[in-house]
Amino acid sequence: AKKARKGSYSFYREEDDRALKLRHKNETMLRSALENEEILVYYQPKFHIHESRITGVEALVRWNRNKSEIVYPDEFISILEESGLIISVGEFILRKACSDIAELNASLERPLKLAVNLSAVQFTDPGLVGKIRTILEETSFPSELLEVEITESIAMNDIASTMKILNELTAMKISIAVDDFGTGYSSLSYLQKFPLSTLKIDKSFIDQMQNKEEDQGIVRTIISLADIMNLNVVAEGVETGDQIEILKNNRCAEAQGYFISRPTDIGSLRLIMVSKDPK
Ligand code: C2E
Ligand code: CA
Ligand code: CA
Ligand code: CA
Repeated sequence: AKKARKGSYSFYREEDDRALKLRHKNETMLRSALENEEILVYYQPKFHIHESRITGVEALVRWNRNKSEIVYPDEFISILEESGLIISVGEFILRKACSDIAELNASLERPLKLAVNLSAVQFTDPGLVGKIRTILEETSFPSELLEVEITESIAMNDIASTMKILNELTAMKISIAVDDFGTGYSSLSYLQKFPLSTLKIDKSFIDQMQNKEEDQGIVRTIISLADIMNLNVVAEGVETGDQIEILKNNRCAEAQGYFISRPTDIGSLRLIMVSKDPK
């Protein structure tokens, strides 16, 4: 093993110690975040490129820490997962999103679809499907409008139980999207066996699409793969008009990203939607 210099070794230990203490502090604070109403749900529109309209939204969680600063999921999702808090927080996010979008849909000509991210840890909860069913009933949200976004890593945990859950959700008419597609480890044969509806092309392939022939090739390949497998396809992290143009030329159906809209609270989403598609 490498032997670190004495000074740098203790320096790193202090750093680790500080990071660990911060993590513990955040975990303690997150334990009361739900009852303190610090968990917020934002929505980012999905834009149908050919129809040129917003067809759905993705729910994205935010933590309003001490009700004074907005913290992004990269800073706290892993804490929620490791502590198991993601089970109750995930349930809250789903309920809040279904109730917000059900209410908004009542004033729109065409209802928005809603996509919610599910963590691999939520798939280990034997009550997951029952909770989803209850929330849909409680909020009167139509299951055909709900999509769950999962990552390829979910399948790696326990394929049989993942398959069972996905089949149950599909039987309820809920759709299933593979998030960050192209960055995980799933084999094409599992993609074929799972009851999927959508592939979301990871932002990392979209970012340099204009300049890198290879990236554009990958994007094109995922679009044809989706086409062959009869799946919808969404490009994520679209930031420029050039990217939309390329996606359009390659017959990518939907796009999501800052070019269309940043994630916003339900009030701002309502303003965007009611001006575009009033009843
Ligand atoms: P994700 O599911 O891949 O979500 C897309 C992320 O990209 C979001 O970050 C979104 O705000 C960001 N994004 C969208 N368009 C653009 C763009 O044009 N440019 C750039 N630079 N970024 C863009 P966010 O909200 O910080 O979420 C990060 C990750 O945290 C998500 O990645 C997802 O894996 C996880 N996450 C977020 N909300 C939830 C949730 O409710 N439950 C679970 N389990 N995970 C969540
Ligand atoms: Ca997602
Ligand atoms: Ca994604
Ligand atoms: Ca991503």
